[in-house]
Amino acid sequence: MRITFFGPPGSGKGTQAERISEYYGLEHISTGMLLREEIRSGSKLGVRIRKIVESGHLVSDDIVNREVIDRIERIEDYLLDGYPRNLSQAKRLDRFLEETGKPLSGAVFIQVPVEEVLKRLTGRLVCACADGTGFSSEYREGDICRICGKPFVRRSDDSSEVVRNRLDHYHNLTMHLEEYYRGRLLSVDGVGTVEQVFQRIMRALRPWA
Ligand code: AMP
Repeated sequence: MRITFFGPPGSGKGTQAERISEYYGLEHISTGMLLREEIRSGSKLGVRIRKIVESGHLVSDDIVNREVIDRIERIEDYLLDGYPRNLSQAKRLDRFLEETGKPLSGAVFIQVPVEEVLKRLTGRLVCACADGTGFSSEYREGDICRICGKPFVRRSDDSSEVVRNRLDHYHNLTMHLEEYYRGRLLSVDGVGTVEQVFQRIMRALRPWA
């Protein structure tokens, strides 16, 4: 199975992507995570993209396309999380997949209303081991993670102005992907507990599994 997950920031996309990949044995490729790793490495590229990610804007298509295509070139089954993020990325991905004769099974769209997203993002804390994918609203800032031993902190791109930029990009660019993937799109209600949403996605994915 080769799928892509999309949904607004704060939709729980990362958490669900992690669980679904593990369940089906798919390689989980999160562009947000790849970019944060590049930033942490301190490379020249990392320095260039840091400002962009921290302001909530999108990194250039060339950089992101290269990161993803390099990774999927040699694998059969994967879940893309946060990619494609706009029409030009989606078309580039499809061109590449047509060349390899291994098209996407389809796209999963996690739907969450804007008010819910804002509430979730401004309250979200992450720790080093969750690598930015976990919602930890039950913890307070500074609490120590039992797995990695590091404190929970606010993700630098979860401040309210940056969140607004990320939501703008989502509404101006990513939402058009719903139209692009019409006919190979599964829409899932993302409101509820992690377990409830997980079960909904599992049910929706059955035809592709
Ligand atoms: P995420 O963890 O998916 O919320 O992504 C965090 C940030 O990484 C985004 O706000 C963008 O700055 C950048 N990013 C992630 N995926 C992409 C992408 N496909 N295209 C451009 N920028 C991206």
